[in-house]
Amino acid sequence: MHFSAPLKSNSKKIMLLGSGELGKEVAIEAQRLGIEVVAVDRYANAPAHQVAHKYYVVDMQNSNAILEIIRAEKPDFILPEIEAISIDALFKAEEEGFNVIPNAEAVNKTMNRKNIRTFAAEDLGLLTSPYHFVSTFEDMKSAAIDVGFPCVIKPVMSSSGHGQSIARSEDDLQNSWDISKEARGDASELIVEGFVNFDYEITLLTVKNDTQTIFCEPIGHIQRDGDYVFSWQPMQMSEIALQKSQDMAKKITDGLGGRGLFGVELFIAGDEVYFSEVSPRPHDTGLVTLITQSQSEFALHVRAVLGLPLDFTFYGDGASAAFKSEKYSHAPVVDVDDSCFSANSYVRVFSKPESHVGRRMAVALVFDEQEKALKKAEELIKGIKDV
Ligand code: AMP
Repeated sequence: MHFSAPLKSNSKKIMLLGSGELGKEVAIEAQRLGIEVVAVDRYANAPAHQVAHKYYVVDMQNSNAILEIIRAEKPDFILPEIEAISIDALFKAEEEGFNVIPNAEAVNKTMNRKNIRTFAAEDLGLLTSPYHFVSTFEDMKSAAIDVGFPCVIKPVMSSSGHGQSIARSEDDLQNSWDISKEARGDASELIVEGFVNFDYEITLLTVKNDTQTIFCEPIGHIQRDGDYVFSWQPMQMSEIALQKSQDMAKKITDGLGGRGLFGVELFIAGDEVYFSEVSPRPHDTGLVTLITQSQSEFALHVRAVLGLPLDFTFYGDGASAAFKSEKYSHAPVVDVDDSCFSANSYVRVFSKPESHVGRRMAVALVFDEQEKALKKAEELIKGIKDV
């Protein structure tokens, strides 16, 4: 493959739509190969903006504004990095001959729980929790009775646990209804899902180019309020569960098509594997690969996008812990204890221009035997404070 210099008429160019901490790592990996990086987000000085050759600030739901930037920049590859993005712009860009990663329809399916669930369960026959889609309180009640209690209620168009709740009995349903309506996104339709009493949940990072599909070691994680707080790799699994997980991940990523890295989220109960969700891009729980793999999920994503060979070495057990801010600041400072910087641990600071309560500002990474790594990551995160 030929590698050009950036900012020339013959440069190879990627455009990140969404410029958060995951996009920042993708931008850095792309730059290491001489790729020109254009980063787009709704606010200035987003993490990936700070390491891009060029950046734009635009309403990510404004189809015309996004198309204008795409037409002006003419990127070789468009990498959607967030879910809250104008899907219309992606379809139009594709029609005009631009290469959306993995493709506009895959982004469309995965940004909406209804689309991805019906695709996975009904078109591909993957095992999922029982579910119904509803838009009225009455229908929600019948759906909950049908799937049984406890059940999980989520808006079809929300991410990171927003608007999501568990109803343990009929008495909880009004509260769940109210929570779903407060969510960002389009809360007009809800999914009511049976609760999967899983032993653990994993993210199976699955990477594909035109000829290869490879898997990273399964990532175990703990979610709180719909957001990941700890992840570790590898998650110990039975051979059968791992095989089923890889088969499922292959089916869903083949079904979605295109090149790139996907975060396939699965629930594991004994040897049974339930499909939950998939992100057609690097996954936050996969930040752990920054310390466990010779090629992180971000490097693998870039390799897949460019059509380069997919391979890496798994170095060994590791863990990550997310640091979330506890206050609002327009000039945030995170105080990181020196103990975070040891031979086998370090911190990545996302350098977001503003903090608010619950905003992820940094991640602690530890390379060590699993239990030790997880414990240390937990300790390290306690040593990080907002100033
Ligand atoms: P989601 O936004 O769908 O990824 O859900 C966030 C988290 O909620 C998941 O990672 C699970 O920990 C939990 N969760 C979601 N759906 C279910 C379910 N049907 N059964 C059990 N736990 C669930």
